[in-house]
Amino acid sequence: MTRLAINHTIHCKDEKATAEAVQMLANAILAFYTSTPEKPQSLFMSLHGDLGAGKTTATRYLLQAMGYPGKVKSPTYSLCEEHILDLPKQALHVFHFDLYRMQSPEEWVDAGLLEHFTHSEYPTLCIIEWPEKAEHTLPTMDLAITLIHPQEMQSELARTVEIAAQTPKGEAVLQSLITQSSINP
Ligand code: ADP
Ligand code: MG
Repeated sequence: MTRLAINHTIHCKDEKATAEAVQMLANAILAFYTSTPEKPQSLFMSLHGDLGAGKTTATRYLLQAMGYPGKVKSPTYSLCEEHILDLPKQALHVFHFDLYRMQSPEEWVDAGLLEHFTHSEYPTLCIIEWPEKAEHTLPTMDLAITLIHPQEMQSELARTVEIAAQTPKGEAVLQSLITQSSINP
């Protein structure tokens, strides 16, 4: 049996290219939720990269590409912003975290925010910037996405997006993204 690729790298020359890469990810994520509408699914995604790498920007493009019409506020000060997306047969609850300002992992555990990773009444997508700050308190992420601003490119706008699947669910989503990128290279 062929082993699925579990890593994929996309080179984006500017912000528009990042938006296009994220569009493919959005399609793959939507396919994941709509394939089992009878069962609420959850997907956990961590975003890595320095300040200014584009984690929040990529999340904004992702939610827009998934059909979210509203403004996507950065959770830098609130720790967590919730958005509800209307999918064909279900409402998807998206929790966007930014743990950068957190002093200790207990902070978000005490605030009850970890609960968003454990309940199963409705489909959820958890996107988390600065997961390192949560240390051992986080469950395994299905997808770990790293945004890098490559210095050698000498462009303010270039980014490398590395996507790693860390669970079978993550592999399914990543495989669907890779299939799209082979059709639209
Ligand atoms: P982070 O959340 O990683 O700290 P932000 O998304 O807040 O970073 O900021 C990234 C900044 O870089 C934004 O001002 C965005 O417009 C800019 N940018 C320039 N080129 C790109 C690109 N190719 N992809 C993503 N963001 C880019
Ligand atoms: Mg950010």
